[in-house]
Amino acid sequence: MLYTSTRDSRLSVSASQAIAGGLSKDGGLMLPVGIPAVSEEFILSLADMSYPKRASLILSLFLTDFPANLLDVYCEDAYKPSSFENSHPAPLACLSERLFLLELWHGPTCAFKDMALQLMPRLLSHAVRAQKTADEVLILVATSGDTGKAALEGFADVEGVKIAVFYPDNAVSPMQALQMATQEGDNLSVFAVRGNFDDAQSRVKKIFSDKETADWLKQRNIVLSSANSINWGRLVPQIVYYFSAYVDLLKYKKVAPMDPINVVVPTGNFGNILAAYYAKSMGLPIARLICASNKNNVLSDFFKSGIYDANREFYMTCSPSMDILVSSNLERLLYEACGRDDRALRRLMMSLNKNNKFTVSDGIREWLEGHFWADWIGEPDCKNVIADTFNRFGYAVDPHTAVALGVYKRYLENTADYTPSLIVSTASIYKFPDTVLSALGADVDRDGFEQLEALSRITNTPIPKSLSQLKSKKIRHSQVLELDAMKKAVLDIACPPGEQ
Ligand SMILES: *Cc1c(COP(=O)(O)O)cnc(C)c1O
Repeated sequence: MLYTSTRDSRLSVSASQAIAGGLSKDGGLMLPVGIPAVSEEFILSLADMSYPKRASLILSLFLTDFPANLLDVYCEDAYKPSSFENSHPAPLACLSERLFLLELWHGPTCAFKDMALQLMPRLLSHAVRAQKTADEVLILVATSGDTGKAALEGFADVEGVKIAVFYPDNAVSPMQALQMATQEGDNLSVFAVRGNFDDAQSRVKKIFSDKETADWLKQRNIVLSSANSINWGRLVPQIVYYFSAYVDLLKYKKVAPMDPINVVVPTGNFGNILAAYYAKSMGLPIARLICASNKNNVLSDFFKSGIYDANREFYMTCSPSMDILVSSNLERLLYEACGRDDRALRRLMMSLNKNNKFTVSDGIREWLEGHFWADWIGEPDCKNVIADTFNRFGYAVDPHTAVALGVYKRYLENTADYTPSLIVSTASIYKFPDTVLSALGADVDRDGFEQLEALSRITNTPIPKSLSQLKSKKIRHSQVLELDAMKKAVLDIACPPGEQ
């Protein structure tokens, strides 16, 4: 399986090269030249396998230059019980006969990013060693909250790797900030930056495409790479849980073999729902992909109008991991939507760079409508959904999952399509205790850890150990940077000033 760039179809590299490099030099995103198709037999055969085995089998279809036995080892290790506080890393909760939640937050940082970031550092470290092009990789991460911690956990003390994380100051939840500030490890740096997530992400992208920086690093035998979902190594582990969820539904006799399901994904950078699209194009019977946004509803407007317009106010919501105006992974979808025409794609992306806006053709719009449905809900609705879901099902959801449930309700009202539906639950309630407690009508006026205990009492669920342990951890990272200081910070990490 070879990989190419969304902005230059002539490019052809191996899976390891695609993962080691992160972003393509032309500024495009790497993706496989063709999506592998699987048979019904293949899908059904997954039912009797463990999650790690399901994962390594699906990974092997994409990462053809990785030895299969190595993938087995990586997957066993990534999803081991000591990292995931549950016997199944991605279990289902059945709310009704047609409504299922896919719980993707049992990993060490309590959000779905762990599903990819427990595995991806192993893939990246192998890929870089296989390339023999550098002695060290420096991973740059811009985060709206969850990716940063998950990447830190995944990459902490991984040999041959350094990692720098940038998050928007005062725009992540207190629990998210504490998770990052207390991270242990000798190979990592964490910075709050004065700007929003989009500012941080665009600076990181700029550092990536800066030739001078690349040359400077190359002389020191260092390459830059990314742990954001612009890296293919993040996406492929995410395809796995859609297959896994489907065969679990089969096992529990909630669907018959090859019956279609709908999938609802709370969306920010478009990585998670893109993985669902790939699962669908491989042959998993997904009927409709429902893209759920919060008040930053640029994607929902785009699916409705064909116009992507990021020239709008940026809102800070109670689902901060979805507070994004430029969803990077949409580029990969658009590449498929325009029939893998790199020229058409370059035009759209140039327009996005220049005007923060682009318009797709009617043909592309129809293609998108054939697969997707999109909508958004605002802040009061989000809290109402948390309360309603708890009252009806006795199940508390985090604000991101609530956005998905709220949009799903709109979908039912609009379409009366009662196909069994999988709601992707992306974070633990304990990561956003303030919002969940207030939605449930409880007193929030207490310190963060007392909030966790209150939440545990009210919902009768255990506090994840990884969060309760934060209480006794030391603050290690407290630096705040101006956006303009990010590049220098990166160079100083790559090569400490004394050694430059
Ligand atoms: C990252 C994140 C999202 C958004 O996922 P994308 O892949 O960026 O679309 C949603 N919910 C939570 C809790 C997240 O951490």
